[in-house]
Amino acid sequence: MLKNKTSIVTGSTSGIGLGMARALAKAGANVMLNGFGDATAIETIRRELAAESGARVLHHAADVTQAGEVAALVAATEHAFGAVDILVNNAGIQFVAPVDEFPEDKWTAIQNTILNASFHAIKAALPGMKRRNWGRIINLVSVHGLVASPFKSAYVAAKHGQIGLTKTVALEVAETGITCNAICPGYVLTPLVEGQIESQAMMHNLPRDRVVREVMLAVQPTKRFVEVEDIAALAVFLCSDAAKSITGAAIPIDGGWTAR
Ligand code: NAD
Repeated sequence: MLKNKTSIVTGSTSGIGLGMARALAKAGANVMLNGFGDATAIETIRRELAAESGARVLHHAADVTQAGEVAALVAATEHAFGAVDILVNNAGIQFVAPVDEFPEDKWTAIQNTILNASFHAIKAALPGMKRRNWGRIINLVSVHGLVASPFKSAYVAAKHGQIGLTKTVALEVAETGITCNAICPGYVLTPLVEGQIESQAMMHNLPRDRVVREVMLAVQPTKRFVEVEDIAALAVFLCSDAAKSITGAAIPIDGGWTAR
């Protein structure tokens, strides 16, 4: 379905980003992986994805908090594959603290990783998409782009900002073959959430299974984590021709969290 298309997925050495990269490769797209991690482990992921899909897969180590590195990531992808047709802004980090105690460096790091990186990547990739009159921009946001939770001020602000950016970009390119959408998952069991389970367990002095049941999944009516593969399938669908009229949308995949 996506043969001859090229994608960038930021933050795809782990979790949801890796799942989306895998699904895009399986659908036929070349993939530029991005993200941190052990070089040998990343090379193993790169080879696995290429071998199982037959797609071309490369990795670029850009730190997306650096505007210049984001531009270099887009330029390197255009150089290696000839285009960036699909841009998935997925890299993200979390830090939890009351707003009046929130460390300024953590606030800045979250804005840079989530909101500013999305802006810089879109700015760099859009001219090529406009020239080819085709593109898919997917911002992997969160239910926290739609609703808030206490102690997550930086994350909630960045994620709400990403939805504003999504809508604005969608309107600016609405008459072209480019769409821009936000995917808004509830809790997904990835290393990012494992970290939160550990800190909540310490904070509430509760065992892991009770934190999962009584703190995390309490807000998710299905009482199940959202699966990476389901988010990846939605991302692939948004890249399809059938999704050409879906633009400027913030699509929850949250087990009913935002239905309350
Ligand atoms: P994860 O920690 O498993 O993966 C994060 C990825 O981002 C990693 O590949 C990491 O190397 C990369 N990354 C972090 N900082 C980076 C930087 N400065 N430059 C380049 N890469 C960087 O996390 P995840 O749970 O898979 O999260 C992926 C996205 O999904 C994030 O934007 C997160 O906010 C969002 N999200 C996660 C959940 C969840 O429950 N896990 C729910 C909703 C939204």
